[in-house]
Amino acid sequence: MSLIVQKFGGTSVGTIERIEAVADKVTEFRRQGHDIVVAVSAMSGETNRLIGLAHELQSQPTPRELDVLISTGEQVTIALLSMALNKRGCPARSFTGSQVKILTDSAHNKARIKEIDGSNIRAELKRGRVVVVAGFQGSDEDGNITTLGRGGSDTTAVALAAALKADECQIYTDVDGVYTTDPRVVERARRLEHITFEEMLEMASLGSKVLQIRAVEFAGKYNVPLRVLHSFQDGPGTLISLEESLEMESPAISGIAFTRDEAKLSILGVPDTPGIAYRILGPISDANIEVDVIVQNAAADKTNDITFTVSRGDMVKAEAILHETAKELGAREVVTDAKIAKVSIVGVGMRSHAGVASKMFKTLADISTNIQLITTSEIKISVVIDENFLELAVRALHTAFDLDDTSSESA
Ligand code: ADP
Ligand code: ASP
Ligand code: MG
Repeated sequence: MSLIVQKFGGTSVGTIERIEAVADKVTEFRRQGHDIVVAVSAMSGETNRLIGLAHELQSQPTPRELDVLISTGEQVTIALLSMALNKRGCPARSFTGSQVKILTDSAHNKARIKEIDGSNIRAELKRGRVVVVAGFQGSDEDGNITTLGRGGSDTTAVALAAALKADECQIYTDVDGVYTTDPRVVERARRLEHITFEEMLEMASLGSKVLQIRAVEFAGKYNVPLRVLHSFQDGPGTLISLEESLEMESPAISGIAFTRDEAKLSILGVPDTPGIAYRILGPISDANIEVDVIVQNAAADKTNDITFTVSRGDMVKAEAILHETAKELGAREVVTDAKIAKVSIVGVGMRSHAGVASKMFKTLADISTNIQLITTSEIKISVVIDENFLELAVRALHTAFDLDDTSSESA
C-alpha cells in the first residue's frame, strides 16, 4: 500500500459531472488500498472570474484582499469533491490551505511555501479518510491567507508529496502527459515518456504551462517522483525524474517552449561608461520588476544601446522608469515593443550535440523570421521574435529538430 498525492486541475473539476468522475477515480484508488491525498484547483474559469471582479473595483487590487478572494475558488471544489466521495461511501474530508497549515511567506499573490505541518493530514489518513486539500493557497505567520501564483495547485500537490514523503505525486490534467511542445499549437507534438527535472524546469520557466515552475523546483529538490497524466484517459503519462534518458541516441532537443507574456524595452544612445547597465537596470529591479533577456551593444561613437524584456504586465511601469533614467543620462530614445514572443528549444542533449544553435537560426531564416534577441544557457537557446511569427516558428523548429509525431502517417 502506498501514499499517493493526486492533483486535479481546473478543467478536470470544471463541472459537477467531472467532479463525479474524479470522485470515481479517487474511490477506485482508495479501494485498491492506497492512502490518498487529493489537491484540487478551482473549477475552470473561476480564478479568472474572481480576478475580473476585483479589477472591476480596482485597477491594482489590494494584494491581501485579492488573495482572500481568489482562494475561494479552490474552497468550492474541495467541498464538492469531498461530498462526491462521501456519497460513494469513500470517507473524505476537505481542508483549506490554512487548515492544513501550509505556512507561506507573506508575498501576497506569489507566496512561497515555507513549511507544511502534515499532522492533520496524517491523522485523517489513519482514520481511513481521503484528504482533499485546496490547492494554490496557504497562510502566513500572522494567519493571512496567501496564494501561490497562477498554476499554484501543482506546487501545493508536490509540496504535500514532499512533506508527507508520498510514494508518488500524480498531476492529472487535460492532456495525457508532457509533450514536445504545446499540443494545442502543434498538432504533431509528441508525448514524452520521460523528461528530466532539469529539462522540465527550463520548459516550465520558458512558458510551458503544463506544470508550475515552483512545482518542478520542489520535486527536483526533494526528489518527488512526479507524473503528468490525463484525468479521464488511461495511459502512462510522462514521468519527470532525475535520470537522463537511457536511450543510446538521446535527441539534441527534447522540447520547445514559448511565451507571449513578455515585452521588449530599449534605451538608445546612452554613454558607454562603467556602471551604465546598473544605472539603467537598478531602478527597474528596485521597482520589483523581473528582467529576463538583456542585450547590450556598444556603438563606435562611445554610446551604448541596452535592450531587455520584462513580463508584459510590467511594461508600462518599466517604461515610465526608463524614461526617467533616459532623462538623467541624456539618452537619445526609449523604444518599447509589446508584440514580441520568445521561443526556446530545450534539451540536455544539447551538451553533446554540436550545431544546435546554427540549426535553429537557419530554420528561422528559412521562414524569413527575424531574430531580435538571443540568449543561451547550457541546455536551452531562446530567441525573441515578432509575435506574428510565433506559431510558424514553433512548427518549423519542431520539424527541423525531428520532434514531429509521424506515427499516424501512412507509409
Ligand atoms: P490544469 O488546469 O490541469 O492545471 P493547465 O491548463 O494549467 O491545466 O496545463 C495543461 C495545459 O498545458 C494543456 O492543456 C496544454 O495546452 C498546455 N501545455 C503547454 N505546453 C505543454 C507541453 N509541453 N505539454 C503538454 N501540455 C502543454
Ligand atoms: N486556480 C489557480 C489558477 O487558475 C491555481 C491552479 O489552477 O493551479 O491559477
Ligand atoms: Mg495548471
